[in-house]
Amino acid sequence: MIWFNALSALLRAKILAQSPLLLDLAARRRSGHASQKIVSADDYRTHFAIWNSLGIDLAQARNLARREAAGEGTGYPHLSFGMSTGTLGEPGVFITTPQDRARWLGTFFARALPADLFFFGSAAVLLRHDNQLYHQTQGRTSFLSLTRGVQDVADSLVSLRPEILVGPPFALRRIVECEAFRRNAWMPKLVITGGEPLWPEDETVLTTSLCASVRQVYQAAEGFFGASCRYGRLHLNIDVMRIELLRFRESAERFVPVVTDLVREGPQRIVRYRTDDIAVESKGVCPCGSVLPAIDGIEGRLADVLVLPTGDLMFPRDVHATLAPELSGSPFRVIQEEAGKLIIELPQQVSPVVARHAADRLHARTFCNVEVQQLVMGGLDEKFRRVIRRIPVEKDFFSRNFQEPISLLTSARKVS
Ligand SMILES: [Zn+2]
Repeated sequence: MIWFNALSALLRAKILAQSPLLLDLAARRRSGHASQKIVSADDYRTHFAIWNSLGIDLAQARNLARREAAGEGTGYPHLSFGMSTGTLGEPGVFITTPQDRARWLGTFFARALPADLFFFGSAAVLLRHDNQLYHQTQGRTSFLSLTRGVQDVADSLVSLRPEILVGPPFALRRIVECEAFRRNAWMPKLVITGGEPLWPEDETVLTTSLCASVRQVYQAAEGFFGASCRYGRLHLNIDVMRIELLRFRESAERFVPVVTDLVREGPQRIVRYRTDDIAVESKGVCPCGSVLPAIDGIEGRLADVLVLPTGDLMFPRDVHATLAPELSGSPFRVIQEEAGKLIIELPQQVSPVVARHAADRLHARTFCNVEVQQLVMGGLDEKFRRVIRRIPVEKDFFSRNFQEPISLLTSARKVS
């Protein structure tokens, strides 16, 4: 039954990505929710109990997810409780039925995998938390927890030699750059990244070290939002998620997605949920032929936006564009400690001269004091955020910076 449902979802996803009329019809499902209030990620978590028909709050849901991960009963034999990676603070929880998981699998295959890997490729999924989502392929998928550390995961990969490698891009970069991996490197056919932005220097390391094509998925506890095509653009799954755009007033090519799940059957509801992600729009129609609207990528989260003393916003891509030309692919992290003070963290091997040039460029762009410190890597399971704002902003600071929400349906029609 799982395979039948997954196959149905796969065919549906394939057909809808090529048919503007059917896509339009699918995207209009549950349009009655359009008048509901937009809920922020914080409010959704605080009032988690009203967003699921089990009436459980987030602490209870996390407890059930931990019980499931430990192989203990949850009292809900037909449901699975999964935890997201948790970029900021505690992880979110997603509750799924077998039907939901089969649909996810079919849609994921259709949108993220080339056809030659549908039925034969073995995969390794590298994330912090395991979930039943990744165990629907009859033994073809291995789960490796990033909590095991670089060396241990690299050793396991060398013995597994999967054809598809799935994980956060910077964690994958750390693995392929480690000695244990380099000594016994092999070539997967496909690398799928997710969970954090894919920056060009990380993509270059993965492409050149593994000689594989790299694709991204845009996915969170709230759903599977999109996947990149062979041209690198991220196509949004508006057949399974309604996506509305909250454009920034001072940067109209950027928006925060507001998502409504159109297909989920389980007890959890996602209705006009405002993600904290920042999407960058792309120009022109994607040459791949998909009628799903495409964006250039996700550059980070609202907590990654610097608020300069002038009141201007500096987005992660602007920080990256300022520093990357100086750093020849080295990783970096910029932290806004105080309104007028930025810290650049750089690896020890970056020369003091290069570090000074990078600091000068950032100072010239922001007029903030810039201090250079050594970058110390955290655990492999910790997300690597290149930009971190530590100064607080008012609760409605970003809401005041958004234009009125508009639906992506309009873009889909334009593309068709
Ligand atoms: Zn495309």
